[in-house]
Amino acid sequence: MKVTYEKFEDYPLNVPTLKRVSKKLEELIEELKECGSFKTANSVYKKWNKYTSQLETDMSVIMVRYTTDVNNIAYKRAQEKVDEISPIISNYRINFFKILLKAKYRKDFEKAYGKYLFKMMENSVKSFDEKIIDDLVTENKLSSEYDRIKGSATVIFRGEEYSLTQMGKFLTSADRETRKEAAIVCDKWYLDHNEELGEVYSKLVNVRTTMAKKLGFKNFVELGYLRLGRTDYDARMVKKYRAQIAECVVPLAQNLYKKQMKLLGIKNPMYYDYNLSFKSGNAKPVGNTEYLVNAAKEMYHSLSPLSGEFFDFMLSHHLLDLEARKGKAPGGYCTTFPSYKAPFIFSNFNGTEDDVNTLTHEGGHAFQAYLCTNIKVPEYVNPTLEACEIHSMSMEFFAWPYMDKFFGNDANKAKYAHLMSAITFLPYGILIDEFQHWVYEHPEATHQQRCQEFRNIEKRYLPHKKYDDCPCNELGGWWLRQSHIFSTPFYYIDYTLAQVCAFQFLVEDRKNHDKAWKKYVKLCKCGGKYPFVALLEKNHIKNPFIEGNVKKAIKPLEKILKSFSVEKF
Ligand code: ZN
Repeated sequence: MKVTYEKFEDYPLNVPTLKRVSKKLEELIEELKECGSFKTANSVYKKWNKYTSQLETDMSVIMVRYTTDVNNIAYKRAQEKVDEISPIISNYRINFFKILLKAKYRKDFEKAYGKYLFKMMENSVKSFDEKIIDDLVTENKLSSEYDRIKGSATVIFRGEEYSLTQMGKFLTSADRETRKEAAIVCDKWYLDHNEELGEVYSKLVNVRTTMAKKLGFKNFVELGYLRLGRTDYDARMVKKYRAQIAECVVPLAQNLYKKQMKLLGIKNPMYYDYNLSFKSGNAKPVGNTEYLVNAAKEMYHSLSPLSGEFFDFMLSHHLLDLEARKGKAPGGYCTTFPSYKAPFIFSNFNGTEDDVNTLTHEGGHAFQAYLCTNIKVPEYVNPTLEACEIHSMSMEFFAWPYMDKFFGNDANKAKYAHLMSAITFLPYGILIDEFQHWVYEHPEATHQQRCQEFRNIEKRYLPHKKYDDCPCNELGGWWLRQSHIFSTPFYYIDYTLAQVCAFQFLVEDRKNHDKAWKKYVKLCKCGGKYPFVALLEKNHIKNPFIEGNVKKAIKPLEKILKSFSVEKF
């Protein structure tokens, strides 16, 4: 199908109704049941893909419209409809897969589409059953409850009322007293809501463990992995990978923190002091949205004709909504409209370095989506989440030679801070991951025991964190602010795995840009045709699960770090 609409605002708002969607999906399932050969089944499969892609496109349009204008009643109602029918669509999808999995023509399908497609279907079937639908609804409600509590949170700071997100600017202030006061105010909020948030999490752990048991698993760990589509690595491999990070990244991160504090001249640093990168303040972009978009345009054109064409496409079809404005949902994301072969980037620019990050990070996601619009099997378009983050995090590094366009004289500051935060993120990432494994392996633990365990792991991986005056954090409550722990269990290590892979692109790009870029484009074009480890092998990226590979990926970064005259920042 060609792009039928010129611009995003021309896309129709097709609100699906349960009756219409159920009728169509039931018809296709009945049709598939009647098929006795690959030929007939394949034609139903193609019809199924065409219909569900359009459905996904419509739901994606609704989500984007809603997040860009949350006060619009029509969009809000449409979004509610989507939330209501999504689990029902999943159920139909599983039933469709079940027929294909048991079909006598399965071998022919595997020949035509590859065995991995069936592996994914088996995964979906294993992690879902009608008997857990109510539990899934409960899980979603609890997860939204966390968002609601956090979203409506306000604190009083120096006589003014602020949301927790708005407190960010005080927490990163160049003035130490401001950072300290802000940290205390936020900690107080978490202390006041400690019980409430702990209760929501206990219920989440409970319902997830119940689902795992109903589906025949020992605990939630394996089910959590299956839900993330992980088919070629397991919790044992992740544990060994965390040990590699602990061994070679934790000491490096500690050194970087020491250097940072020395340069800032802080003798007895508290955790909030690490938010400030340089005495002269953090790097600032040199222009407004229009300026930054133009700089990004130049960058994408300079990187390659293909990426230039991609960014022009995004601009001419109005597929970027970047500026913060009243009525927009918070945060940033990249999504796609499969039937219109178009990605979309949403963000809330606020004049900080994050704005540039959106144009490069979300740009990387969108570029991959743009390159994969012709993949016919929907399951093969997007890879699993760790692989997706390689696309985005590597693009952040391919943007390095263009940092002066975005940051002017602050370009080196921006690069150093970027690399330092990417490295120091790894110990934090394994902390969040190890904690979650402990939680689901000990579902009977109390909230207090969970906090205690968190603080123990935190002391091992982030020994520099001192929480004087912040009792909630001191008691191990930091994790209450990490939304992934509530919404998507075990999705966090993904960022660290992707980061270790993206570092390799940074190093290779500095040696030979053309070669590194070609390798990157090839990786993006693979889309979701392979599971994570196989995808790395196919693209000659060092697999972080193999002992010694983390060290190999980190070693060259030390030289890059040394190349910056940090003392002058
Ligand atoms: Zn991302």
